[in-house]
Amino acid sequence: MPAKKKTKVVSVQKKVVKTKTKSMSKKSATDAKNTESGDAKSQRGARAINLLRGMKDITPKDEIYWLNIYQKAVELANAYGFGFMETPVLEEAVLFTRSIGKDTDVVEKEMYVFEDRDGTKVALRPEWTAGAARAYVTHGMQTWPQPVKVWNYGPVFRHDRPQAGRYRQFHQFGCETIGHRHPCLDAELILVGYNFLKDLGISANVQINSIGNAEDRQNYTIELVGYLRSKRSYLCEQCKKRINKNPLRVLDCKEEHCVEVISESPQIIDWLSEDSKNYFMKVLECLDELGIPYILKSTLVRGLDYYSDTVFEYYEDAVEERSQNALGGGGRYDFLIEQLGGVPTPSAGFAMGLERIISILRSKEGNKNILEKEWSRIFFAQLGEQANYRTLKLIEDLRLEGIVVRHNLAKSSLKGQMELADKFGATHTLILGQKEVHDGTVIIRDMDSGNQEIVDQNKLVLEVKKLMKNIIKIRK
Ligand code: AMP
Repeated sequence: MPAKKKTKVVSVQKKVVKTKTKSMSKKSATDAKNTESGDAKSQRGARAINLLRGMKDITPKDEIYWLNIYQKAVELANAYGFGFMETPVLEEAVLFTRSIGKDTDVVEKEMYVFEDRDGTKVALRPEWTAGAARAYVTHGMQTWPQPVKVWNYGPVFRHDRPQAGRYRQFHQFGCETIGHRHPCLDAELILVGYNFLKDLGISANVQINSIGNAEDRQNYTIELVGYLRSKRSYLCEQCKKRINKNPLRVLDCKEEHCVEVISESPQIIDWLSEDSKNYFMKVLECLDELGIPYILKSTLVRGLDYYSDTVFEYYEDAVEERSQNALGGGGRYDFLIEQLGGVPTPSAGFAMGLERIISILRSKEGNKNILEKEWSRIFFAQLGEQANYRTLKLIEDLRLEGIVVRHNLAKSSLKGQMELADKFGATHTLILGQKEVHDGTVIIRDMDSGNQEIVDQNKLVLEVKKLMKNIIKIRK
């Protein structure tokens, strides 16, 4: 942004300020003072309320990231034919217990569950897929043209141990393709997630595996449990418990000794049925055709019970594997909708973790251009009570014509407003004082040269449109 000259405004009557100050009655001044001190007193004694652990505020300082990432999600979902769907934050807890699985970390340790005022056991959604599957059944979507492709976007909740990249409320963008089983549909989902990262300037790879059908998994699990029992003494305490409860989860452990044990464990790919094996090969062929880089990862199983066959995760390139956090993941869930009372409905989906993605965007200076927010470069300053009201109306007239101006109607000092205009990098400031209200005019001040021009208020929209065209031309 070019350095701006210190702004000095002399043309608008200082008198207006004086008159205004004088005209403020003594009584209202005292009232204002009393209210202020009353508020301060009550605030002084009150305990400040803290943010809950693992939760995060999104403030206007983060806006540039959140709105851009949302925009990308909308663009991509539209481009691939997904329709927006939002299910409630709160669902019957049994929805998640039955679909995600009662022995999984998400349900057993992390889900926010409580009884509502009617005594119904409810849960904050820990992910989107179960809700989407429930909605498919609720709305009889099996009668719609198949597959039903939906996308979702918003907060999910897990009472996890907070640490870098792990929150208790976080946001996901996800897509679900419900109602068909076809390798191209898996590949399309993988592509959408991959392109989401690519469009945001993140170079990522896909790690992929197949966990077969329920029978394949059962056979494999028997073999795996036998192996893990033989190595039990080398495993961490957590994994020792997992052998009986959720043995597949051991494959995810990052503890050094567990990693060694896992590296020699039987591989699920060797236990796949012919059907699952062929299906997986076709998914890989589709990815080859699309040129999506992938890594076959035999230990990738995902943590939730409803997955079958293809499972995948996204990781940032060039980040050391042990310190990696997945940026997103997904897979097929061919049996989930049946488990929730629907007809057999093969499906697949993915979810991207937005906090982790935004944290990468923040660390990359180069992404500034992709994300730069274009604020209006025109500021509206006013001086005096009448000008204050009139400005509110003129700003509204401009807005109705698609022109956004920055302003601060609560500031009465013109000097303060001009400083603000400088701070915002305004190229022009529209100034309205008592005289201008009376004459039906507005001053347009060029912030670089200090030149001022007086225009008729009726022509303001036209004049500002001209200005904006020039600003765009100069930037090009
Ligand atoms: P999952 O449903 O566990 O596969 O999660 C999908 C994506 O959400 C992950 O790849 C992460 O990017 C993100 N994610 C999962 N858990 C958390 C968490 N506790 N905090 C922030 N992001 C998370």
